[in-house]
Amino acid sequence: MAARALPAACAVPEHGPLAQRDFPEPDHPYRTPFQRDCGRIIHSRAFRRLAGKTQVFTERGSDHFRSRLTHTMEVVQIARTIARALGLNEDLTEALALAHDIGHPPFGHAGERALDEALQQYGLRFDHNLHALRIVEHFENRHLEFRGLNLTRAVREGIVKHSRDYKAQDHPELAQYFLDRKPPLEAQLIDLADEIAYLTADLDDGVEADILTLQQIRTGVRLFERHFSPIAQEHKAAPEKALFQETLKQMLNALADDLVTEIRRRVAEAGIQDLKSIRQAPQRQAAFSTEMEQLRREAKEFLYQNLYLCPDLQRAHKQASTVVLDLFGVWMADPGLLPAGYSTQIEQQGAPRVIADYLAGMTDHFVLEMHRRLRKAVPSRS
Ligand code: MG
Repeated sequence: MAARALPAACAVPEHGPLAQRDFPEPDHPYRTPFQRDCGRIIHSRAFRRLAGKTQVFTERGSDHFRSRLTHTMEVVQIARTIARALGLNEDLTEALALAHDIGHPPFGHAGERALDEALQQYGLRFDHNLHALRIVEHFENRHLEFRGLNLTRAVREGIVKHSRDYKAQDHPELAQYFLDRKPPLEAQLIDLADEIAYLTADLDDGVEADILTLQQIRTGVRLFERHFSPIAQEHKAAPEKALFQETLKQMLNALADDLVTEIRRRVAEAGIQDLKSIRQAPQRQAAFSTEMEQLRREAKEFLYQNLYLCPDLQRAHKQASTVVLDLFGVWMADPGLLPAGYSTQIEQQGAPRVIADYLAGMTDHFVLEMHRRLRKAVPSRS
């Protein structure tokens, strides 16, 4: 069934204030500003490093586990589909999905927590959205005329606001990103496309890792069982693996369908006709229906209890945290051990931030290699 699009004025236009860049550049003859942003993100070093960063599993027990890069590609696919169904700006949506995890440090959320813990001793915080902004504004250097990627304002605003709202009084440095207004729908839907991607993928990878079983998922995840049961009835001779994969696919479709329908319903109910009203609305319009939201929470809770907090992953998280904190400690004690490019930034930024920036950029493999090399100098906390 073809989905009905939202009023055309709800989409971020291809040209206009949100397509502006800080450093003005002439238009490209046949690529839109947001297509160019997609290209700049894909060609960045930070994007390539996503291949070496944990999604859920640090140890390569299987070649089929998602990395942050393959997870990102799944989010791009889902987000683009939703944007197209709603008549939103697909290229902007794709750029935001490509960048949505670019600020993640090694070892997934365990790495992020460790960096945040390290920085808190110095009155600072680590936040992957704000780190992503620093990457695209400062750390990527591929252009002669400017520093960073010179991305459009809509993409930088979406990087900051796709998953949470920041308060203007806490973040004066983000004043140019309209913190008193909601982000465009293209940015609002990214966080939910991300959820759709990992809720289904993590069940898949959890079974691949022999941590989750099909039976356990059938009992614990109502949204899964709702699709599994009729498929299994209809295909009695099918191998379990095929039934499992078919169910994950239907579960993903059901989540995406619900999101499209609910966004359309909310926008219509609020009488929203354009982007200005989306930005001024008291609530974000991108959400699941009440029933699907309940099913989503249950599925997420199941993953926490049975996968993210299972002993194997807890052990890996503990090790990740030790490695990150050890390295942070050794460089704080002797910043002279940092590569030259970093040590020169210390005067401006302070050692804690520079060290966190360096660590955050590393892949899982590289951070472990660094730890191995510096181990002699590191008083291990483990
Ligand atoms: Mg993600």
